[in-house]
Amino acid sequence: KAKQQGRNTYQLYTEDLDNKLSRRVTLRSELQEAIEHGQLSLHYQPLLDRENRVVGLEALVRWHHHSKGFISPATFIPMAEETGQIIPLSRWVMRKACQDAQRLVTQGLLAGRMAINLSPLQFHRPNFLSTLRNVLDETGLAPTHLELELTEGILMHDTDGAIDILHALNGMEVSTSIDDFGTGFSSLSYLRDLPIDKIKIDRSFVKSAAKSDKNAAICQGVITLAQELDLRVVAEGIETAEQHDYLMSLGCEVFQGYLFARPMPLDSLSSWLAAPSS
Ligand code: C2E
Ligand code: MG
Ligand code: MG
Ligand code: MG
Repeated sequence: KAKQQGRNTYQLYTEDLDNKLSRRVTLRSELQEAIEHGQLSLHYQPLLDRENRVVGLEALVRWHHHSKGFISPATFIPMAEETGQIIPLSRWVMRKACQDAQRLVTQGLLAGRMAINLSPLQFHRPNFLSTLRNVLDETGLAPTHLELELTEGILMHDTDGAIDILHALNGMEVSTSIDDFGTGFSSLSYLRDLPIDKIKIDRSFVKSAAKSDKNAAICQGVITLAQELDLRVVAEGIETAEQHDYLMSLGCEVFQGYLFARPMPLDSLSSWLAAPSS
């Protein structure tokens, strides 16, 4: 009997694994299709200063699957990173975000920067900088309207290579920020050594900063550290007035979150930006 049960368990297990695997294979080829046939889109989320003025936008990729509906980038970005599909995907994102940014600049709707999330594979490719320069040339977007969001992981991998690229970006006047700051378990000394402009405190700390002493201490520590090192600080994932007030009281300079605006497609964003006292 035990033997029988063991076999059933094994069968269930392999079926489950098979399903998972085939679902992944399907998803992977569907992502390929989405990249090639323009089923990806970008949403943009505003960033605001202490006076609620829009100081920038962040481009966030969206995949509207024909039958499965909306698939979160939290699911397909890591997968694309594993398969290498992140390279054509990122190329598309970069071009589209710069095109849209340039359009907003021309319309007088964007004075600040468009921020683009970078993937480790993309950043560490030998032709990363030349691709970036080409995109700026082709779209006409001034580098002073571009910001690149990096993760701690990007900087920890081949730090010397990363330093060279960051210096080049700095020379081009493209600004850089560290996304999801505090989640990467990395040494803080890189903040001293790398030419970075901004850090974005991860949403997980912001979320309960006004309620949890420990998260409040982390937010306070990050903001103090940033001020000492002459870096700007963004708090991401602000959902309540309480969180906003609290981070304001700590001296945070830039805010992003559902409290102000959700990520929006370009046309909604344009109206939102054009609306008086948005
Ligand atoms: P991220 O760069 O940290 O982006 C912030 C995420 O938080 C976005 O999720 C955004 O929609 C969400 N968010 C913003 N405000 C709030 C809020 O008030 N509350 C809550 N609960 N969430 C908020 P999204 O769009 O699902 O993106 C997830 C992650 O996927 C991004 O995190 C980024 O790491 C990655 N990602 C998105 N677009 C791209 C891309 O074009 N390229 C690369 N390499 N990664 C991307
Ligand atoms: Mg980001
Ligand atoms: Mg972030
Ligand atoms: Mg995040």
